[in-house]
Amino acid sequence: MRIDKLLSNMGVGSRKEVKALMKKKKVFINGVAVKSPNTQVNPEKDQVICDGKVIKYQKYGYWMLHKPSGYLSATYDHHQRTVIDLLDEKIQIFEPFPVGRLDKDTEGLLLLTNDGQLAHKLLSPKNHIEKTYIAKVDQTLTSTDVEQLEQGVDIGEGVLTQPATVKVMSDEEPTVIQLTITEGKFHQVKRMFHAVDKKVTYLKRMSMGGLVLDELLTRGAYRELTQKEIEWLQ
Ligand code: URA
Repeated sequence: MRIDKLLSNMGVGSRKEVKALMKKKKVFINGVAVKSPNTQVNPEKDQVICDGKVIKYQKYGYWMLHKPSGYLSATYDHHQRTVIDLLDEKIQIFEPFPVGRLDKDTEGLLLLTNDGQLAHKLLSPKNHIEKTYIAKVDQTLTSTDVEQLEQGVDIGEGVLTQPATVKVMSDEEPTVIQLTITEGKFHQVKRMFHAVDKKVTYLKRMSMGGLVLDELLTRGAYRELTQKEIEWLQ
């Protein structure tokens, strides 16, 4: 790849700034000063030094976003804001995409990455990755509703959901429910509650596999995953 692309992707600066560093003889590939921004570099093999620092190449990026309501889980839309609009330009350079979808009005944990293989693994139905949601519903659940949701409900078109875990959060707030599912069908949570005649009025995803939404992230905020978190997902 081009050296200016590599350096700007790694957050050194804009392509213009990178070019200026080259002019000042501050960029080296394997010990040789780089003169032209279109010089080719193999980021996995060549040693790149910029302004005295070795540039560590990072091919994939992983971020957790506290998705706010009002944003589409997509990379682009003609008319509406997407979760990508919440990311800094330096991160958009990695061309991240959301792993799975949360509805426009759903909040909570959304993983963004450019690692297609990991995304595929996390989304594959055969891997049964657990996803936990907090849902507010319009009426209290009966014990039969809980049983049905846990065993599996018909969410339409002959689709029967896999076993799930349901927990009423507290006696004070009996309409706040924690639901853990291992599938990711379109509008699944809303359709599951609909199957027991309840309407979801608020929905937030709290976790996905071993990845838990960081409480310190306010709505719309995001951070890079730690090495440990990345390992939990592998
Ligand atoms: N289930 C839903 O109904 N909506 C979401 O956004 C996620 C799961």
